[in-house]
Amino acid sequence: VEDELMRAQRLESLALLAAGLGHDLRNILQPLLIVPDLIRDRSVDPKITRLADVIAECGRRGHEMVDSMLSFVRGSSQRSERIVLQRLFQAVGMLLKSSLPRDVELHLEVSDDRMTVDANYTELQQVLLNLALNAIQAMPDGGKLSLVAEHCRDAQGDEQVRIRVSDEGIGMDEVTLQRLFSPFFTTKPKGTGLGLVSCHRIVDSIGGRIEVSSVLDRGTTFDLLLPLQMAASIEDTAPVPSTIRPGR
Ligand code: ADP
Repeated sequence: VEDELMRAQRLESLALLAAGLGHDLRNILQPLLIVPDLIRDRSVDPKITRLADVIAECGRRGHEMVDSMLSFVRGSSQRSERIVLQRLFQAVGMLLKSSLPRDVELHLEVSDDRMTVDANYTELQQVLLNLALNAIQAMPDGGKLSLVAEHCRDAQGDEQVRIRVSDEGIGMDEVTLQRLFSPFFTTKPKGTGLGLVSCHRIVDSIGGRIEVSSVLDRGTTFDLLLPLQMAASIEDTAPVPSTIRPGR
């Protein structure tokens, strides 16, 4: 209980800090939304316009991050949609491949392509990326990173999906395991100690939970247990184009 209280208090201060920071960041990012258009208007050089696109994209992403940080602080949850896990895994795979060290092998598996989860897409993707990047950083000498989504049941027998992110990395000692989800707790020289706090918050908001097990020098497993929605078939997960039948 005391731990929970400490956690709540830390989150409270974090929220205050984030609110102030978010406000300032919005102002600082403002030029990134305007300047690229000015550059495009004044230049026909394709190299320059491409650079303007890059800046515009950074501005857009920066604003999105600030917005989601501010809505986190205000406690309002992001727009939720039905996410097909198969597609989410494909996207995560694409994003990871670009930053995958040569000696890290990536394994992605979704046991059933009808499995869907109701959540905000960007947020759930962020959770998987955070866990995967932590796993990669835990394997300086390489190893296997695997993300597997499977059916399971909770204690009440309700259907759930379990997304298991496991690595063969350095593992964690008791102290780390206990403080893992505390804001600003990090063992990395350049860590923020906020990745897992935000994973926890996002998974909480969709009614799921996170379980961790780890063995020093052997590896770590994070289990995300999320409420499952099943689509009758993969077609149900995409809007079906309506056909107009000619009348008789
Ligand atoms: P950061 O990555 O910035 O340190 P996180 O909140 O994501 O912040 O992680 C907190 C700490 O948890 C890390 O510094 C690390 O000590 C530990 N940790 C998280 N994931 C793993 C993992 N897969 N293997 C070993 N340690 C981990």
